[in-house]
Amino acid sequence: MAVALCVLALGAGGCSTVSETGRRQFNFLSDEQANSMGLSSFNQMKEEVPISTNPQHNALVQRVGEKIASVVDLPGAQWEFVVFDSEEANAFCLPGGKVGIYTGILPITQSEEGLAVVIGHEVAHAVARHGAERVSNQMALQTAGSIIGATLQNKSAATQQAASVAYGLGSQLAIALPHSRSQEAEADYMGLLYMARAGYDPGEAVNFWQRFSEFNQRSGGATPWFLRTHPLDQTRIENIRSWLPEARMQMP
Ligand SMILES: [Zn+2]
Repeated sequence: MAVALCVLALGAGGCSTVSETGRRQFNFLSDEQANSMGLSSFNQMKEEVPISTNPQHNALVQRVGEKIASVVDLPGAQWEFVVFDSEEANAFCLPGGKVGIYTGILPITQSEEGLAVVIGHEVAHAVARHGAERVSNQMALQTAGSIIGATLQNKSAATQQAASVAYGLGSQLAIALPHSRSQEAEADYMGLLYMARAGYDPGEAVNFWQRFSEFNQRSGGATPWFLRTHPLDQTRIENIRSWLPEARMQMP
C-alpha cells in the first residue's frame, strides 16, 4: 500500500525512507509537526501521571536511555527519559525523543539489558516515524473513502474526521493504539541493532519477551497494555532469534 500512496503523494513531499530497513513509507506529517505533537502529549502525561522519585529507577532509565539515544539519528530530537510511577507494564517513545517508562515494566525488564530491549524497541518506533505513518495511512484511506462515497457524504464531515485522526497523534489515546504487525517487526529489528551498538547483548530480547509471556500468563489473561499494543506470538520471538547474529555483529 505504501508504494501506491507514495505515487498519490508525488510532489507533496509525502514519502520518506525508514533508516536501517530502507522501507519506503507514506508520511505527510513533517518531523516538526510530529515532534510538536509528541511534546504536547508528553507534557500532558507528565501532568496527569505521577513521576517516580526512586533514584535507582531514574538513574537506570537515564543511563540506558542516553546510551540508546547516542547510537540513533532522530532529527530534531530533544531527548527526555521519564519514569512514571504506575503499576502498568508500559513504555513508549513519542516523536521528538520523549521516552516514558512505567515502573510496572521494571520487574519484567529485570536488568539494564532488559530495559535496553524495551527502550531500543520504543525508540525504533520513533525513528521509523510509525505514529506519523499510521495517521497518514488512516487519513489517506478516509480521503479515498470520502471520494468514493462523495454523493452520500458531507465533505466537511469527512474533513473533520480526518483532522481529528491527525490530532489524535497528540493525544494519550493514540499512544495506546497498536502498531501494525509489520511496524512491530521493524521496531524489533531496529531495536536489536540499537541495543547492540549501545553495547548490550541483543540476545536479552529473547529472554525479555519470554518473561513478558510468563508475566501475562501469571496475570490470568488480563493482557497488560504493553502486550495489547505489542502482540506477542511465537513468530515474534523466532524472528528476533533469526536477527541475533546480524545484530551481534554491531556490538562495539
Ligand atoms: Zn512496538
